Amino acid sequence: MVIDVLGVGAGFAGLYLLHRLRSLGFSTKVIESAGDVGGTWYWNRYPGARCDIESLDYSYSFDRELETEWQWSERYATQPEILRYLGYVADKYDLRRDIRFSTRVESASWDHDALLWRIRTDNGDEILSRFYIMASGCLSLPKTPDIEGLDRYRGDSYYTGRWPHDPVDFSGKRVAVVGTGSSGIQSIPIIAEQAAELTVFQRTPNFSRPAYNGPVSAAKRAAFGAGPAAYREAARWSRAGVPMEANATRALQASTQERLATYEAAYASGDLLAFGAAYADILLSPQANETVCEFLRNKIRSIVRDPETAEALCPRDHFYGAKRPCLDTSYYETYNLPHVRLVDVRKEPLRTITEKGIDTASRSFEFDAIVFATGFDAMTGPIVAVDIKGRDGQSLAAKWADGPKTYLGLTTHGFPNFFTITGPGSPSVLSNMAVSIEQHVDWVSTCLTHMREQRLDTIEPTPLAEAGWVQHVNDCADITVFPQANSWYMGANVPGKTRVFLPYIGGVGRYRAICNDVAQQNYLGLAFTGRDGARCDDGLICRLQPDVSMLLHFIESLGMPPRETMSVTEARAQSIAMRTGRPPGPDVGEIIDATLPGANGPLVYRLYRPSSRGPHPILVYFHGGGWVIGSYDSDDPFCRDLCVHSDCIVISTDYRHAPEARFPAAIDDGFAATCWIAANAEVLGGEPSKLAMCGWSAGGNIAAVVCQMARDADAPLIAGQVLINPVTDCDFTRDSYAMNGSGYLLTTSLMQWFWDHYADAADRTNPKASPLRAPDLRGLPPALVVTCEFDPLRDEGLAYAEALASAGVDVRYLPNRGQIHTSLISVDIIRSGSGARAEIAAAVRGFFQNGTFISDCRRGL
Ligand code: FAD
Ligand code: NAP
Repeated sequence: MVIDVLGVGAGFAGLYLLHRLRSLGFSTKVIESAGDVGGTWYWNRYPGARCDIESLDYSYSFDRELETEWQWSERYATQPEILRYLGYVADKYDLRRDIRFSTRVESASWDHDALLWRIRTDNGDEILSRFYIMASGCLSLPKTPDIEGLDRYRGDSYYTGRWPHDPVDFSGKRVAVVGTGSSGIQSIPIIAEQAAELTVFQRTPNFSRPAYNGPVSAAKRAAFGAGPAAYREAARWSRAGVPMEANATRALQASTQERLATYEAAYASGDLLAFGAAYADILLSPQANETVCEFLRNKIRSIVRDPETAEALCPRDHFYGAKRPCLDTSYYETYNLPHVRLVDVRKEPLRTITEKGIDTASRSFEFDAIVFATGFDAMTGPIVAVDIKGRDGQSLAAKWADGPKTYLGLTTHGFPNFFTITGPGSPSVLSNMAVSIEQHVDWVSTCLTHMREQRLDTIEPTPLAEAGWVQHVNDCADITVFPQANSWYMGANVPGKTRVFLPYIGGVGRYRAICNDVAQQNYLGLAFTGRDGARCDDGLICRLQPDVSMLLHFIESLGMPPRETMSVTEARAQSIAMRTGRPPGPDVGEIIDATLPGANGPLVYRLYRPSSRGPHPILVYFHGGGWVIGSYDSDDPFCRDLCVHSDCIVISTDYRHAPEARFPAAIDDGFAATCWIAANAEVLGGEPSKLAMCGWSAGGNIAAVVCQMARDADAPLIAGQVLINPVTDCDFTRDSYAMNGSGYLLTTSLMQWFWDHYADAADRTNPKASPLRAPDLRGLPPALVVTCEFDPLRDEGLAYAEALASAGVDVRYLPNRGQIHTSLISVDIIRSGSGARAEIAAAVRGFFQNGTFISDCRRGL
């Protein structure tokens, strides 16, 4: 008999999957290796086990009746209570009759002729199913601790993730606990209450803080009770699956006192997510994060009496949140008890397990019992533990050997009709998993219903869509502090496992919107076959860098009128207002504001001097703003960044703006300013003859033209030019205008508005306005031309780079995937631009180091 769906696992995910698919009329069976339902809550019966997302949130939301019938006795329910809840759910919806317990799925292979999965269990059965769904859990495969001599030990040993069903009594015993993740931190205080002696072996201290458990608070009951449906909906669209106010302020914008008050409130809340949400940049900025780390270290120091033990318990090798933080009950207080000791395995490495206990590099310990709280082969482990073979016998374990490759964390190319619930590449373990599980099950159920209605037999993601999603998952992780830690999120806890960030950190709400979008766009990126033929709308669902996307959403939410509908005065005022509260950029050695002679009167400039000893090369910088908006200080954070990373003096000089001073006023001022700076280089602290040009947008246009004028005038000598999203031509017909002309801040109509203010139609083709049109580009200084994928000016930047290269100029072209016109100058706002900013600074340094830039450029084009 062929069934519609076989699910693996009877935890939170498998139970809801079975209920939902069954109610939609799909014949569904579940296989579970445990003796009953519960998953995580079946296996993890260790002392102190409980949830750390509030139970009211960490529960199903699909049935209002269930919500009213079940009342949680505590804010953070114990393992037995959660297990009872899942048992109650299984009974209420009569789920057990379709679950085969005490049975392990060992292999699953796709039969392409029959269009079904052949699934084998450890009982020797073969089950035939059209769809195969792993609801096998992210933390269901305990990791075997990589400690020598495990089999030698003759005392009692326990694994937190496989705890016996009968109560374990440690009274009067000498007990060791290995591991100080969430499981260790929850169990240590309870084991200490019983044991005669407790020795904790810690390799990496974790951030933990009190859960302040108790009855569900009145505030929480009220928030939920006021409108359960609205409350749940807010959770579904939140960042982590729990309704929560996010603070839009950055941590370092607040005063030390304000920050302390915020952190004290977060600490007192006993809410796992409170610190991550305390400021907008806690999980993004190392500097912001360090303020939380030090606050929490001070809490540890204030609790643990022995200063040496306190310091050993203070995490220092990872940022807060980058390894999963913990909530505890009296964890640090436990180390004040006379019969509890901490062994820091970093200082005193575990050498081997012996017959009687544990040997470290310097001591031998004897124990009656050892508890291993050593964690799991997370996310991918339980999936690849099953021998899964897709189309043409391709092995999933082999495909994922260098890290999991999925589309939306739900599907993977080459494995038709195969889904994972909360799989790698989805928010899963970074969220309240009850919410993520329901969202995945609902999405898959809707998809299967769609296939049934459309008479479709198979579904599978395309290579393009999958590669795009893997890229997006990495892009999201790369702007956070997470990839730096040796965490199980990175697979770093399992020897030999490829180091790659496993979950999706873009947020639960955003992820839900993406999944909905995929479905609405005719299941974009998913290929179907069916009785009526094959069907596929291929494409990428997330093409912008994640922080660019967030910025665009934020700006859209402000509901501002387009700039080109404003008067020039209004547009300038708006531009200045938008700068309020932006991150300042890094500190530089010195900043001087002064004036220099322009072509038609004095111009203000700002000089940024590095903190290193001078003299330094000088980089002349022209700001953007379409020749109409902006000033010498409008790109201040970017100039600081350039100064610090290039180790050059950066001089951001003003120029006259249109419409008051139209073409060629800006160019004449730019050239005059450059000549004056060259002539006064030594007085300014610069090295004579070490001068380069840089500009962004219209400033890039000025920099390019000044280089041409300097070449023609034989002075000043310019070592190199960096043109960032430059205006190089007045032609609006290039593809990038058609593709990116609306929706990415710099629009076609805004560009039109700028040109109209700046130059008469007849002047626009003048090479001083459109440097691409210069009859001869030979002899220009080496150039770095930087463009962004979603910029209308992208193609004219590329055209200029190509034209320079054709003219024999040393040129390097640096395109930026997923970025918009304003990305690269948005220091500490668009973090994904930091790699490009570093490359720009390196190129500037290369201009002044003989031969460095030239060899670089040759690699570039
Ligand atoms: P699981 O509950 O892990 O169930 C998967 C099931 O699949 C298991 O029973 C397993 O035996 C079975 N299985 C796997 N492979 C096979 C196979 N090949 N054949 C047959 N059966 C198989 N998340 C939160 O959001 N909040 C919390 O507070 C929280 N606390 C946690 C506490 C602990 C101690 C742990 C370990 C995890 C916690 N989590 C928490 C994460 C937790 O795993 C999820 O919240 C949730 O329980 C996962 O449900 P699931 O059904 O996806 O997976
Ligand atoms: P874990 O966080 O991976 O912690 C395992 C611990 O064992 C770490 O301290 C690790 O040190 C240590 N360890 C592993 N191998 C070791 C070795 N060979 N020698 C010495 N030390 C070793 O695992 P976990 O505590 O079971 O938690 C896993 C996840 O489950 C949690 O992050 C959380 O998501 C979930 N969970 C939640 C709760 C809850 O409160 N609701 C409770 C338990 C678990 P290193 O850090 O140096 O690798």
